[in-house]
Amino acid sequence: MSTTGNGKLSGKVAIVTASTEGIGFAIAQRLGIDGAHVVVSSRKQANVDKAVSTLHEKGCSVMGITCHVGKDQDRENLIAKTVEKFGGIDILVSNAAVNPTVGGVLDCPPGIWDKIFEINVKNALQLTQLVVPHMQKRKGGAIIYVSSIAGFHPMPVLGAYSVSKTALLGLNKAVAHQVACDNIRVNCLAPGVIETKFSSALTENPALVDKMLEQIPLGRLGRPDDMAGLVSFLVSDDASYITGESFIAAGGMQSRL
Ligand code: NAP
Repeated sequence: MSTTGNGKLSGKVAIVTASTEGIGFAIAQRLGIDGAHVVVSSRKQANVDKAVSTLHEKGCSVMGITCHVGKDQDRENLIAKTVEKFGGIDILVSNAAVNPTVGGVLDCPPGIWDKIFEINVKNALQLTQLVVPHMQKRKGGAIIYVSSIAGFHPMPVLGAYSVSKTALLGLNKAVAHQVACDNIRVNCLAPGVIETKFSSALTENPALVDKMLEQIPLGRLGRPDDMAGLVSFLVSDDASYITGESFIAAGGMQSRL
């Protein structure tokens, strides 16, 4: 039985990038359960097929499209196929990111710096440029950028990545201002340390985990599902007066006042 039509996102069309596992998958699942038609995507067809099948089993209205966010044609195809299938776009969750290096910001080679900023920031902007005209046609929409607590408080071993996540906080504000007149709201999610493949180098090292837990008042690492309800709220009409804001979901880790 389809859950579409019952939830607070009923009838909305949502694209979530990098959504075949981890935080993106948890968000896609929640948006689907809350009634949206969801488009899941990532680079590998097998991962897309698996995510689609899992979400179908949960009763979600879902379509899968392979999309490497760094490829112009893939981004364009993602948007075109979504509009063809569901008739428009109401929600974009820009979730894809890379971190191909470990080390301080001064130690980052220029090619790696460019790659990080291309995927984490430039491609998020390019996707936004593609979806905004469709949201304007629908007289509104909601965009979420997935940043990181490291965007507020740079992690020494994730120097360049942290700065790219800070850049997303700025992109969030700039886009929010520009599209507010079109009734498009734009907000940022900044997760703490969440147990996924992406963070496994940190979360599968018991000594590091113990050190991190000392800084997490809730006393545990985050789970992808911990991110999903906040995003569903932010893209729903319940958040109708919230735009240009950044929300930290990090178990109480120190970030800002
Ligand atoms: P994850 O569990 O490792 O999942 C990564 C997903 O991204 C997979 O579905 C993967 O599928 C897809 N993907 C990877 N590169 C892609 C690309 N170039 N284009 C499209 N899809 C791509 O990662 P995660 O931890 O959920 O991270 C998601 C977001 O949360 C990232 O923006 C990350 O910076 C942010 N974040 C994570 C944490 C954390 O602790 N985990 C903390 C703060 C922020 P394919 O292999 O099929 O492409």
